Formats: sequence, structure tokens, C-alpha cells
Amino acid sequence: MGLLSTGHPLSWKASQPYIREVKRKGIRQFIHVYCATKNRKDDCLRWGDEVEYTVLHVDKSRRKMSLSLRAPEILQELQKQEHSQPEGSSVEVLWRPEYANWMVEGTPGVPYRCFAGDLELVEQNMMLRRLEIFSVLEKNEIVLSITAFPLLGVGNFTSPTEPVLGPASLSLYVPDAAINPHPRFPTLTRNIRHRRGRKVDIRRPVYQDEKTDREFPVLPRCLAHQNGCSGGTNSHHSLTNSSTTDSEIEKEDMLDLEQLAKETTSDIYMDCMAFGMGCCCLQVTLQAKDMDESRYLYDQLAVFAPIMLALTGATPILKGYLLDTDSRWDIICGAVDDRTLEEMRHGPRKSRYDSIDLFVSSRKEMIPERYNDVEALLDEDSYRMLLENGVDERLAKHIAHLFIRDPLVIYEESMNAQDEHSTEHFENIQSTNWNTVRLKPPSLESNAGWRTEFRPMEVQFTDFENAAFAVFTVLVSRVIIAFDLNFYIPISLVDRNMKAAQCRDAVIQQKFYFRRNVFADNSHVPDRFKCACGRTHKPRFSSSVQECCLTACSSCSDCEPMTIDQIINGKSVDELHSNHNFAFPGLISLIRGYLDAIELPPESSVKIGNYLDFISAKAKGELLTTASWIRKFVCNHEAYRHDSVINELICYDLLKAIHDITSGKRIESELLGDFYQGNGECHEISAEMLQEMRTKVEKGPTLMASKD
Ligand code: ADP
Ligand code: MG
Ligand code: MG
Ligand code: MG
Ligand code: MG
Repeated sequence: MGLLSTGHPLSWKASQPYIREVKRKGIRQFIHVYCATKNRKDDCLRWGDEVEYTVLHVDKSRRKMSLSLRAPEILQELQKQEHSQPEGSSVEVLWRPEYANWMVEGTPGVPYRCFAGDLELVEQNMMLRRLEIFSVLEKNEIVLSITAFPLLGVGNFTSPTEPVLGPASLSLYVPDAAINPHPRFPTLTRNIRHRRGRKVDIRRPVYQDEKTDREFPVLPRCLAHQNGCSGGTNSHHSLTNSSTTDSEIEKEDMLDLEQLAKETTSDIYMDCMAFGMGCCCLQVTLQAKDMDESRYLYDQLAVFAPIMLALTGATPILKGYLLDTDSRWDIICGAVDDRTLEEMRHGPRKSRYDSIDLFVSSRKEMIPERYNDVEALLDEDSYRMLLENGVDERLAKHIAHLFIRDPLVIYEESMNAQDEHSTEHFENIQSTNWNTVRLKPPSLESNAGWRTEFRPMEVQFTDFENAAFAVFTVLVSRVIIAFDLNFYIPISLVDRNMKAAQCRDAVIQQKFYFRRNVFADNSHVPDRFKCACGRTHKPRFSSSVQECCLTACSSCSDCEPMTIDQIINGKSVDELHSNHNFAFPGLISLIRGYLDAIELPPESSVKIGNYLDFISAKAKGELLTTASWIRKFVCNHEAYRHDSVINELICYDLLKAIHDITSGKRIESELLGDFYQGNGECHEISAEMLQEMRTKVEKGPTLMASKD
């Protein structure tokens, strides 16, 4: 979430006359940025992570945890330093608001740079973030990096307790008081609902344990009664009596409710945006050297996204039930799905939160459009304007596809503002297309260059894990560029991988389509790559990596279902698969070859090597994913009745265990192996120490390298 505009957001109805205008202006703004920056060259690698945190209220005596709604106050405290510092200086951590009042987001105060040594700053910076939050919590609060609170939407799960059925969400489960009070967020919530013509309706399968009910009512009986929708005469009453207005749309929703009260299901039913946007994730943004590199990375990372979604899966529980899935992704897709019934019935449109539909790279020889095999609608006016202004076809399609979405929050004030040099209208559409990757054009204000954001990952419990996954992402991006890798597979298969990634135990149970030969020129292991400073590096690879090229180029199809272990750790020819026999190098051996070639200093090698070993063990299934660990914890809990239900006590003990893992008080070797023993130094880290470390690593090797 970037900076929030101020002003008066328009209701969905009041927005109607402006929608075309916002799109037209947004495209014009994009064209302006594009023309100013399309030839921008030789930007340095800069990058940063975003971690979202959950604030919890702890009632020790009742052994109950709830979501603390104090994030806005906490944020104000956290941002004091940033707001009070003199022009031109920086803080070590930037704090940003998020959708729910139990969330805060932290990023490094200044982006990390191209130095390999910067990779070592990440975990330290994340530790500092935790210290900063701790320092502003009340004594009965804790902060965790978890994707979702297990009892989100169950009973009185917030602190303080607030009434449900608020006018923004109309949710039966989540109070509007949980939505960030900045007008953008309630408006977004309500306008999604109004555009859609009904409440969002998210269903996820319940995990079927020994004693799980096969079917249960969508609305628990008490809830249906309470809201007068059990089929009685006054069935609309209590909803209209709540603080909602009685517009046509709200009446529709009440009818839905009556219908729901009659339905039974084996799915969990969730009815508002907070179930998705209240989930926390881990993102990484990378600045590329120019537009072409950024577009190329966008495509490659889009293919890689499901792999990382599976590896980081951490959401096996929602709304008090064990789910049959391990990740948040499809829940958020449903939570902000603004499609009308008509749009859902006809046409190929996905939710505006979903995987990508179009590759965008300008690499001709890789023929990206060969892999664009899902139908992608274009906003025709936008497309025409883009082409007329010299935007190439692939990029024009990408942008025109984003612009099939309507702007959801329009500020009254912004419609009259002078905005040729702003990007407000463009960002309005861009930032509400929530995909696995995002292409971020240069900012005219901050001097940031072309960037690619990697968005699929679920947040992990510890700074160690989050740092490991963030650093791994950066290193994957480095080998993609240095070795000119080609990950292209048809988008329809990327979509299949996204589904597979969310299955229970996906890392060990599922296979993922992946390209057999990832070397762009289709035959050779690259034997050299060049650094931005002009130096040539010569990676040394094992014979098994050499072998991959020889076997893969003789194969008949581009891609093949592989396990995550094979994709990450490699596969030799004798691991027979179907009737084809080929080897695959594994991304980790490419990364090791790369780090070896740039001569990473031994001190750095230990830490980075530890991250790689950790990821490698995760991919092998030697370590549990976070989701599997949570599942196992629940199943072994004495209060668990094998009915998939998570009660308050299980929730309390689970979150307490996570808290202890994070602080190093509890060692969980099934989750973390020997790789992490708790951050004992956590209490010693300070902003000054980080600054000092930053200066120290400037002498080491850089991560800017490309094919020779
Ligand atoms: P959003 O929520 O829209 O993705 P944020 O401002 O929350 O935006 O996060 C931006 C991320 O990009 C942060 O991790 C930050 O460190 C990183 N970042 C900032 N400037 C640059 C840059 N020039 N190049 C690469 N990454 C950057
Ligand atoms: Mg965020
Ligand atoms: Mg964001
Ligand atoms: Mg952000
Ligand atoms: Mg982001």
C-alpha cells in the first residue's frame, strides 16, 4: 500500500460519470511516464521487502487471544520518527497502514542496494522492525507475522469487541470497525460490493477429518435467527435496522441471506473483504536496470510465483476451521472479486486479485506471446490510445488488460485537479490489479526506476524465514538475469500451478509444470556472465548441470510436471519420469554457481548458504511448511476433537507457540531444522548498528550481472 490520498471518496453510484474519464486520464498519465522513462538505462539494482504483521490482544487468565484493533494508533507511534526527521535523512524502517486495523506493514527505510553484502542486512532489519513494534505495544499485546488469525470471523474475535453488520461490508462476521478508518478502505469495501451487485461470497473446502461434519448449514442456525432470515415473515428486518441504507443492492444481499440460511455445505463461507485483505504476506520489489529487464523479470517471476506460494504456504486455518488448502491466495481472490454476475457467466475475466493473464517481455527470441494461451480482455479505448502513442503491442496489451477494471475509489477532489504530471489515475487502476507480479513504472517523484514486484509469498513466523525467502527471491532474479534463463510455459499451466500450490501439503504432494530447459539458447550451460562494472565471471558447474542441457534439448515438449524438490534442488537423468528422460539443474545449483563466480566473501557465504540450505530442505520436504506445521500442531493438541474445529484454547496455544518460536524460546526443528536457533541477539540490534553494517558491505561484490 503506497501513500494514501486525502479527500472525499465517491460512492459507487456517484463514481459512474467519472469512470471513463479516470481510465482515459490514467492511460494518458501512463503514456507520459512511459515516454519520459522508456529509454532510461543502467539503473542499479535496488530492492526491498514488505512484511505485514498482526497485532494481538492476549488475555492470559482466560487463555484467549483476539485481534487488537489498535493498528492505527500503533502506526502513528511507529511513524513519529519518520515524520520528525530532517529533510534528506532517512530512518531504518518505514511503517505503512494496511487494510485491517490489526495489521501494520514494515519495509526497510531505504531500499537495499546492489551489494551482495546487503543480503545480510535483511534479517537484521526485520529484527529491528519487531523491536520497534514491541516498543509501542501495550503490555497485553503481542505482534506476530502470521498470515491469518485462526478465529477471524468467529464470535468476539476483536479487541475491543465491535458490532457486525456494518454499512461498508454488511458482514455477518467481521465488524466494519476492523477496517482501516482511512476513507479509502471502507469505500473500497462498499464499492466492490456495489459494483458486484451483492456481497462477496468466498467458499473454501473444510479439511475432512475423522469426525468432521460432512455437511453443515452455511449460516449457523443462531446467526440465521438472529438476523431474521429463517424464513419468517419479517425476514429483512434486523438487517435493515442495522446501520445500513436500504438501497436495492442491500435488499439483494438480504435475499441472498435467506437463501444461504437454507443451504448446507462442506465449505467454509466467508462474506467480506477482511477475510482476504486481512491476511498478511511477504513481498519483494526489485528495481531493474531498464524497462526491458523489468518486463523480462515480470514474466519469469510470474511463472515462478506458484512455486514460492507452495513453499511458503501458511494458511491452513480460517474462520475457526482447518481448511483442506494451505494458502491464502484464492481467499483474497474471492474477497475482492468485484465481477458482476454477467461478467462471471460470460467471458474470460478473472477476479482482479489473481495470477497474471499476459506475458509482457520485449524479448523477441523467447516469443512470449506463444505462451499467452488464456483469453485476456483488453480495454479497447486504452489499447488504441497506447498504440497511437508509440507503446509497443505487448506492453499496450498488458496495460489495456489492467484497464478492463473499473476504478473502485475515486476522490471527488481528484476529478478537477491538474494531473498531467501526477500518476494518481493510473495508480488507481494499477494498484487495484492485485496479481502475482506487478510491473511498476518509474516514479516521477522519487527517482525510482522500472521495478518488478513479486507478490505471491505468505509471511512466515520468524525473521530468519522471511529473510531467507526474500533473499532467495533476489538470488533467483539474479540467476534469471545472469544466465538469461527462460521459464516460459503457457499461462494456462501457470494457472494450474497456482491451484496446485494451494493444495494441502503441495510441496510434497503436487507436481508443477516447469520448463525442461531453462537456458535461453536451448543448449548450453552459460559459461560466463558480465557484471555491471564490466568484469566477466566464469561460473563452474557440476557435471550434472552440464548433463541437463544435453538431455533437455533432445526432448519433445517444452515443459513437464516436476516436484518442487526437482525444480529447486535438481533432478538427474536416472530419476525416471514418464517416458521422457531428462535432467534438470535445480535453481539452487545455479545460484551457488552464481555466488561462487562473483566471489562472495566467506563471511557472507555462511549466512547466505544457510538460507539456501534451509530452502533446499523445505523443497525436499525434510522440513515442514508453515501450513503443515500448524496443521500438525492442531492435530496433536489435546483439545482437538478431530472435527476440524479450532476452539479458543487451541488458538491460544497455537499463537503462543508461534510467539515462542519467533522469540527463540521454543525450538521447532521440524519447521526450522538446525538452521535457526532463535535470534538471541535480537535485543541488541539498533539503527546505528544497521547503518554501520551498511557502510561495511559497500566494498564487497555486487549482484548486478547479465549475460556476457
Ligand atoms: P506497495 O505496497 O505499493 O508495493 P510499498 O511502498 O509498501 O509499496 O513497498 C515498496 C517496496 O519497494 C519496499 O520494499 C521498498 O523497500 C521497495 N523499494 C523502494 N524503492 C525502491 C527502488 N527504487 N527499487 C526497488 N525497490 C524499492
Ligand atoms: Mg501490504
Ligand atoms: Mg501494498
Ligand atoms: Mg506495501
Ligand atoms: Mg507491495
